[in-house]
Amino acid sequence: MYRFVADENWVKGSLHCHSTSSDGHLSPGDVADYYVSRGYGLLALTDHGKITTNFVNDGECTVLTGIEVSKGQSKLGEPYHIVALGVDDPSINDLNSPLEVIDNVKSAKGLVIVAHPSWSSLVHEDLAVLKDYSGIEVYNTGCDVEVAKGYAVSHWDNLLSMGRECWGYAVDDAHRYLVPPLDADGGWICIEKPSDNTAAMKMLKTGQFFSSTGPRFKSLEMSDSAVHLKCSPVTRVNIVSHNGRGLCISMNDLGYLLKAWKNPSERQKMAHRYRQVEVNTENKVTTAFLDEIAWKAKIVFSPKGIEQVEVESRIFLRYMRVEASDLKGRTAWSNPIYLK
Ligand SMILES: [Zn+2]
Ligand SMILES: [Zn+2]
Repeated sequence: MYRFVADENWVKGSLHCHSTSSDGHLSPGDVADYYVSRGYGLLALTDHGKITTNFVNDGECTVLTGIEVSKGQSKLGEPYHIVALGVDDPSINDLNSPLEVIDNVKSAKGLVIVAHPSWSSLVHEDLAVLKDYSGIEVYNTGCDVEVAKGYAVSHWDNLLSMGRECWGYAVDDAHRYLVPPLDADGGWICIEKPSDNTAAMKMLKTGQFFSSTGPRFKSLEMSDSAVHLKCSPVTRVNIVSHNGRGLCISMNDLGYLLKAWKNPSERQKMAHRYRQVEVNTENKVTTAFLDEIAWKAKIVFSPKGIEQVEVESRIFLRYMRVEASDLKGRTAWSNPIYLK
């Protein structure tokens, strides 16, 4: 069971960004101000090879120590970039391999995220051979806006398909901040405002957050075969699982369905898939009831977009995760649930 209600106590978190301590454009204090002024409640500065501490923070934001190190060599000859959080010994930068870094961070009770797999040209085997990391960057803004290598959804699904517990962290990896291409505040996690560092680390390690570049999950509940989601209006909701299994619900299709439903002969053609469509003219909300061999779903949408789905799966799924995209192509990703 994976369940949360992301109410006003939830904040944005930035887990991978840089300051003038390495190659970032803003000083550590200005980086903290940048995020706090945009409503972030969790921040980790992850300068290259350095742990940046003692910068001014007004206390509104929980700050985790962090570092990004480049180690080892992937199948395609590039080094891994490893983001370590909750560590305070900078000598991990002197270690030789990603395996040693992960072991070291693990014994210091820290957390490891494998950074920007697409930008680093990592293949599945590169990620499969490493163990004991908490997850990968499912999205990295800097890598996206600079060279279009920001997404790592395929890497993630391959790991999940092999049964690997792995969370998806969206980050911005900000260096430039106020100089285009704009990298900062383009990808983040949403998390219940942590009471302290220990609470933040626990939630980050156990996947109690979701990632986003825009849309907001208001509430999500996933159990063995069901998903209940309420979200800001989106144009598409995807239930993603292993291999070719999953369900996509799009406003494009729902608009078509709504039109066709008014015509009895067209409606007949949809009957094997859609059981009922109810239009509430008062609040302009439509509810469509999908009912087919593999899936049953109740979909609530308005002219603004899909705002609620209740989905039931009738087939075996190894895992399930939810993603939702809006008109601007911005996406939110839930963490996965592993099914029996
Ligand atoms: Zn990097
Ligand atoms: Zn970085």
